[in-house]
Parts: sequence; structure tokens; C-alpha cells
Amino acid sequence: MSNPKDKLIVALDVATRKEALDLSGRLDGVVGAFKIGLQLFTAEGGDMVREIVSRGHRVFLDLKFHDIPNTVASASVEASRLGVWMLNVHASGGSEMMRRTVEAVAEDCAKRGVPKPLLTSVTVLTSSDEKTLVETGVGSHVDDQVQRLVQISMDAGMDGVVASALEVSQIKSRLAGRSFLTVTPGIRPSEATLDDQRRVTTPRQAIINGSDFIVVGRPITRASDPVGVASSIIDEISSAQR
Ligand code: C5P
Repeated sequence: MSNPKDKLIVALDVATRKEALDLSGRLDGVVGAFKIGLQLFTAEGGDMVREIVSRGHRVFLDLKFHDIPNTVASASVEASRLGVWMLNVHASGGSEMMRRTVEAVAEDCAKRGVPKPLLTSVTVLTSSDEKTLVETGVGSHVDDQVQRLVQISMDAGMDGVVASALEVSQIKSRLAGRSFLTVTPGIRPSEATLDDQRRVTTPRQAIINGSDFIVVGRPITRASDPVGVASSIIDEISSAQR
């Protein structure tokens, strides 16, 4: 059984290098990985990613690329050259975009003789619901849209998806023995506020549903005791694995 702490990815959704180093320093050795997303990357750039990687941390670069296939494939190669452990694109960018990304990153890593980062795709954001899909012209129900995007991601050779933990059992049931990761944000310990998230679950339920990694941001980063909250989430993961 994997170490429960490795399943917890903490979102470093902060504005400055100082806050990011402070938070990652406090959580050093406590959690499995750090996620750098749009806010911190826009503020501090690739040097921030290199710095966190150089401190020996696993980094999930969550920039959710969505553009023409050539641009996403090229940007993903650059992301992978930063030394990240995982990066992602939007599955709604389509099969060709994902296939070209997988090929370009694999080829570049092979040339450099380094392991390929995990390539994941976002299905439907955990802040979205049926209303959001209708508003943006997607006729399907959330579940159907997630399953459709999972299928094209698998077929394109992605390593996994970012989805709500509410959808994980259904995703896992269509794998037929294939290995395919699920990374699940939208996690809220039962006493925490929802913030802008809609399709949420507790850490315990996410693990029971089969999530490979859970992503937690504000419940940890805005807590007065981030290490305490992270540790109690890890205890919850551990008890759900038993
Ligand atoms: O603070 P909170 O726990 O809601 O943070 C969740 C993190 O996961 C944010 O950084 C958000 O951008 C990211 N995320 C998400 N839903 C997705 C993909 C990523 O909430 N589908």
C-alpha cells in the first residue's frame, strides 16, 4: 500500500515566492507534492518551479493548457523541462491536442534521458456544474461529459485525469485493467467551507472512491496551522486505505 502522505498534493495558491517558500518549507516532508497553478506561476514564473523542484519536492504544474495542438505540445515540453513531476492540459482541447502533447513530451524526455512527467487532463472543473455546462453550450450532463473526456484522454495516451472525486468510481469502472490515474481537487474536510467549489467530497470519501491523489488548497493554505490540517487529512487518508 502506498504511503498515505504521497497521496496528498497541496495547492500553493499564493501570490509571492516568499509565501510559497514559507508554506512549502513548513510542509516539507509532511505532504507528497506541491501544485503550482496559474496564480503563482503568473506572479513568479518558471524560476519558482525550478526552485521548488530543486528543494527536492515533487511539483504538479497545473497550468491547464488549452490551445492549438502545436502550442500545447510545445508549452508542455517547456513545462517538462522545468523538472516537474506532473503537468496538465484541458481534455476539452481534444484528442489531437493531447496526442501531440504526449508524443512531443515523450520524445523530448527520451532525448534528454529523463523520466517523462505524468501527463494529466482536466475533465470538468470541480467548480462547474450542470448550469455551467449549459451556459457554455455543452448539452451533456456533467457525468456524461466527464466520461467522454476520460475516454478521449485514455485513447490519446494520457496518464490520467483531473476530476471530481464524485466521478472516480465511474471512471475506474471503465478502465478494464488499464492503469489510469485520477487526481481529485474539490476536497473539503467536513468542517471546512466550500469556497467556490461545487462538486466536493471529504478526503476519506475521495480515497474510498479510488482517488490516486487528492489536491487540497485553501483548507490547508489558509489555516492557522497548515501542518496540523495536512496531518489530519493524511490520518483520514490512512484510515480510508485500511
Ligand atoms: O483551495 P482549493 O482546495 O479549492 O484548491 C483546489 C485547487 O485545485 C485550485 O488550485 C484549483 O485551481 C485546482 N483545480 C480544481 N479543479 C480542477 C482542476 C484544478 O479545483 N478540476
